[in-house]
Amino acid sequence: MSIIPFDDRDGYIWLNGEMMPWRECKTHVISHGLHYASLVFEGERAYNGKIFKSKDHTNRLFNSAKILDFEIPWSLEKIEDTKLELLETMKLSNSYVRAFAWRGSEMIAVSAQHTKIHTAIAVWEWPSYFDPETKMKGIKLDISNWRRPPANCAPVHAKAAGLYMICTLAKHEAEKKGFDDTLMLSHDGLIAEATGANIFFRMSDGNIHTPLPKTFLNGITRTTIIDLLKAKDLEVIERDIELEELKNVTECFLTGTAAEVTPVGKIAEFEFKPGNLCKEILGSYSELVRA
Ligand code: PMP
Repeated sequence: MSIIPFDDRDGYIWLNGEMMPWRECKTHVISHGLHYASLVFEGERAYNGKIFKSKDHTNRLFNSAKILDFEIPWSLEKIEDTKLELLETMKLSNSYVRAFAWRGSEMIAVSAQHTKIHTAIAVWEWPSYFDPETKMKGIKLDISNWRRPPANCAPVHAKAAGLYMICTLAKHEAEKKGFDDTLMLSHDGLIAEATGANIFFRMSDGNIHTPLPKTFLNGITRTTIIDLLKAKDLEVIERDIELEELKNVTECFLTGTAAEVTPVGKIAEFEFKPGNLCKEILGSYSELVRA
């Protein structure tokens, strides 16, 4: 697979208040964000030039920084305006938007009180890949041995770089075994989420169930889908879900900015057939983000 490396692309990245040529956006190797994972980020998608739930993402970015005990030195409005300016500058309408902030090089130690906070935004082309027919085949998930930490052991509600360490390990483990992704359980063995997306089930009672976001990000797509399901008069039950309940699942799908709505066909030995629910939610979400 040939991938254009992310440090060797054309265009501009907004860095600390300036539109900088893409290749010149460097940070020093001795940066707190790099060594101690003091970095927060957002993953957003623009459809036809409009960023879906842009403000919610910007609010979450600021909140993630606050959880990591730092403040982004820009206003919410400035970040909102800059994202749009960047989309125009880069002439992109269907793209991914990555806004992020991290601690700089002034202190390299556990204590980082006096580090400068750097802020950047980059956008790149990223159309939604799969046609609905391919998506409806469903992806295969393994079940990871890595578990989501409890909320008193990690800042689990921030979208923070450090939390992805176990996600990358879990995903690699699954990919090496031929799976597309993996299901992560929480520290206490409850079903949590995939490595970069939340999870929903239709159970044999006909209702839709999704785990409570106690140990993981309450995704913006997750809440969008819950609203969407409720608007269709479908009952959504947010609760603790045990692994053994997978035997009662009739349909399953993942939700996330990147994943959008991704039907799941298999989790370890449990198989489901993506059906009417997956199809309907996939279609409704696709319409909503483009509305
Ligand atoms: N969980 C994790 C670990 C994620 O990385 C993401 C993607 N940001 C999500 C859930 C879904 O969040 P959202 O719907 O806000 O993209």
